[in-house]
Amino acid sequence: MIEVKNLVKKYGNHIAVDHLNFTIEEGKIYGFLGPNGAGKSTTMNIMTGYLGATEGEVLINGHNILKDPEEAKKCIGYLPEIPPLYTDMTVLEYLDFAAELKKIKKKEREEAVEQVVKLAKLYDVQERLIKNLSKGYRQRVGLAQAILGFPEIIILDEPTVGLDPKQIIEIRELIRTLAKNHTVILSSHILAEVQEVCDYVMIISKGKLVASDTPVNLEQLMAGSETVEITTRATQTEVRDILRPVANVEKITTQVNKDNTTGAVIEVKNHADIRESVFMAFAEKKKPLLLLKNTKVSLEDVFLELTQNDAEAEKLETDELEAEESDAVKQEMEEGENEDAGNL
Ligand code: ADP
Ligand code: MG
Repeated sequence: MIEVKNLVKKYGNHIAVDHLNFTIEEGKIYGFLGPNGAGKSTTMNIMTGYLGATEGEVLINGHNILKDPEEAKKCIGYLPEIPPLYTDMTVLEYLDFAAELKKIKKKEREEAVEQVVKLAKLYDVQERLIKNLSKGYRQRVGLAQAILGFPEIIILDEPTVGLDPKQIIEIRELIRTLAKNHTVILSSHILAEVQEVCDYVMIISKGKLVASDTPVNLEQLMAGSETVEITTRATQTEVRDILRPVANVEKITTQVNKDNTTGAVIEVKNHADIRESVFMAFAEKKKPLLLLKNTKVSLEDVFLELTQNDAEAEKLETDELEAEESDAVKQEMEEGENEDAGNL
C-alpha cells in the first residue's frame, strides 16, 4: 500500500532521514515512535508530498508521490504537525474549501463536510471562526480536514499534542473508529500513546528505523534477554559453579561490587521463572543470597535502549546547524512553505 524505499533527507549536511525502508499494509494503525528530532515529521512530510526527498522514493498504491502526485495524494489525508488552517474562515467555510481542494465533486461536498463534522464532533462550533477556537477544537478541525472524503490512508503527525486528557481520549477513540475502514499512520514521542493505540510500532531514532513490530512482539523480542539479578558473598567462580546445573540458564555475567559482594546477571531461556531454583541452588551450598530479582523488559526499556543518546545528538547537531546557517537549509524551508500553500 505504501512503500518507502531508501529515503534520505538532508538539511545542509545534517541528515534528518537516514535511508529509511518500510512498507505499510492495509487496515492497521501504525505508530512512528521516536524522540523529538528523530525525523518523524520530515518522513511524513515526504510521504505526503509536502517535501522532496534528497534520495529514495515513496510509492502510494504504486504511484510515486513526486512523479505522480495527483494520483498518490488522492489516497492520503494528512494532518501535519501544524495544521494549515485559515483562521479567518468559519469551520464550515474552511472544510468546504478543503473539500474543493481535494476535488470532491460540488454536489457531494456538503454531505462529505457534514460527515466529518459529525465524526470530529464539530457540530457546535461549525459556524465559528477558526481563530476563536481552542487548541483542541482546532486540532479536530485539522483532523476533520485530513479525513475529508475518507481517503484510504490517513496520516496524522502528533495528533494529540497540546490537548487535554479528555480531548486526547476523544481523539484516540476517533482514530480507532477510523481504523476500522482505513489505514492510519500516526506519530508520537509518547510511548504509552503508541502502545495503546497502534497495532504496529516503528521506532525511529536519528532518522533511522531501529525497530518495527507489534508492541507485544517488540517486548518479547527483547524478552529473549529476560534476566535475573543476584547479589551474594560467594566468589565469582562459586557463583558460576552453583548456577551451572540450574535449568534454563542461558548466560551468566558476574562482577565484583564495591562492597566486595559478587553481582551476577543471569540471562534466562524459554521465559522460565528460575528464581526458586536459583534460591535453592545457593541455599544448598550455604551461600546466602543478598538480592534476587527478575528484571523483565518492557517496551519502555526497548524504546530507551534503541533511542539512547538521541537527545544529546540532537542538541549537538542543532548547535552545528545554527553555527553554520547553511543556505541550503534556508532554501529548503522556503521550498517547504511554498509547497505547503498548495497542498491540503
Ligand atoms: P520529529 O518530527 O521526529 O521531531 P523532525 O522530522 O521535525 O523530527 O526533524 C528531524 C531533524 O531534522 C531534526 O534534527 C530537526 O532539527 C531537523 N530539521 C527539521 N526540519 C528542518 C528544516 N526545515 N531545516 C533544518 N533542519 C530541520
Ligand atoms: Mg515532529
